[in-house]
Amino acid sequence: VTGLLREGGRDAVGLVLVGDELLLGTVADTNGAWVAATLRAAGRRLVETRVVPDDPGRIADAVRSMSSQVGVVLTSGGLGPTSDDLTREALSDVAARPLVTDETAAQLITTWYASRGRSPTQAALRMARRPASADMLLNPHGSAPGVRLRLDECLVYALPGVPAELQTMLTSVVLPDLDARLPQRDPTVSASVEVALLGESAVVDLLAAVEADAEADPDVDIAYLARPAQVSVRVSVRSGGAATLASWEGRVLEALGTHVMGKDGQTLAEVVVAALQRAGETVATAESLTGGGVAAAVTAVPGSSAVLRGGVVVYATDLKESLTDVPRRLLDERGPVDEEVAAAMAQGACRRTGATWGVATTGVAGPDPVGDLGPGTVIVAVAGPDGTTTRGLALPGDRARVRRLTVAHALDDLRRRLLSRESR
Ligand code: ATP
Ligand code: MG
Repeated sequence: VTGLLREGGRDAVGLVLVGDELLLGTVADTNGAWVAATLRAAGRRLVETRVVPDDPGRIADAVRSMSSQVGVVLTSGGLGPTSDDLTREALSDVAARPLVTDETAAQLITTWYASRGRSPTQAALRMARRPASADMLLNPHGSAPGVRLRLDECLVYALPGVPAELQTMLTSVVLPDLDARLPQRDPTVSASVEVALLGESAVVDLLAAVEADAEADPDVDIAYLARPAQVSVRVSVRSGGAATLASWEGRVLEALGTHVMGKDGQTLAEVVVAALQRAGETVATAESLTGGGVAAAVTAVPGSSAVLRGGVVVYATDLKESLTDVPRRLLDERGPVDEEVAAAMAQGACRRTGATWGVATTGVAGPDPVGDLGPGTVIVAVAGPDGTTTRGLALPGDRARVRRLTVAHALDDLRRRLLSRESR
């Protein structure tokens, strides 16, 4: 991994989140993630976020030190009318200029109050103040205006903390202003490749050679995001645009081969639904330890009604016979956690619903063993037009993880079956 996110520079952005409540844990920060994703989509590089209390000294320190390393500093919060809103004071300190009342802003605040039949309070008029060297950013959807300030080579934008106000200010005022003042010669572009059910370290091993080359190129960055049962590999390039990105992405795809499950944040269920839609086929489920989890994952995807026939939770052993036609003799001889039983469940789901594909899960979720089978002993089966496949698994983790991984394996096996038929 190279320094795309580590380097400062004039095209880099820093973010200061202001608010005691963020440090006390009474408000969970959402502005940080929203700003990060929005900047990324706009091709801007956020390299640091800091959280500071409603303290003018700490706000000033954060803005001052970031402004010496990056070309743009954004702040969120502390612009309101109350005595604990101290971002303006901090900016006045950093700029070494006094706070003055901005006549246009004062007029707008007065008009806003007048339209509600009131005159503005002293507190409200505090929001019209800005450091003498700064400009006001008029807020189209709120009463608290933002402030823009130049500190040497750095542009500072102070924005309100209320998420809806911050969002409109960033997209309708700040980003267009940045495009005019700090145009991007070559915006950073990125893409992600999704891998299912392969550990992060295995993914890193497969990509060792590609990563070594990326390491040597300061304009390319490869990053990993591990989620449950899924790893996203994000490739970002800072110059060369779409063509350069496509060639690096191509190398990643080649190195990962059949482990690649999807692109740009797709989930297993989304990929399966899309493949079924392409094929004009349907699926039904017969689930034991996952209790409907496979069907729930599929129904979470918009458009699933065209491809999911339905599903049955056959938790008790006798229901595996009465609802999915598993032969009684088989259940008596082998017990419910058995490859032939799982295969019969998947076939039963197809037969009972008329679906093209049947997916079955059976196993021991834990924490206790069942007979001599330990927790994590799981079988998934997929029945389809070209036969039935089963997979025995020894899954790690607690009950929740075993169930989650079982759902992922069931969907991934169906995905592989669908793709292997597509490629024929
Ligand atoms: P106001 O004019 O409402 O006072 P402000 O710019 O002074 O706006 P703050 O007082 O810091 O902003 O925050 C206003 C409200 O916005 C907070 O009570 C909180 O609910 C929400 N908020 C602030 N910062 C964040 C954040 N980082 N993530 C999510 N919500 C936030
Ligand atoms: Mg406030």
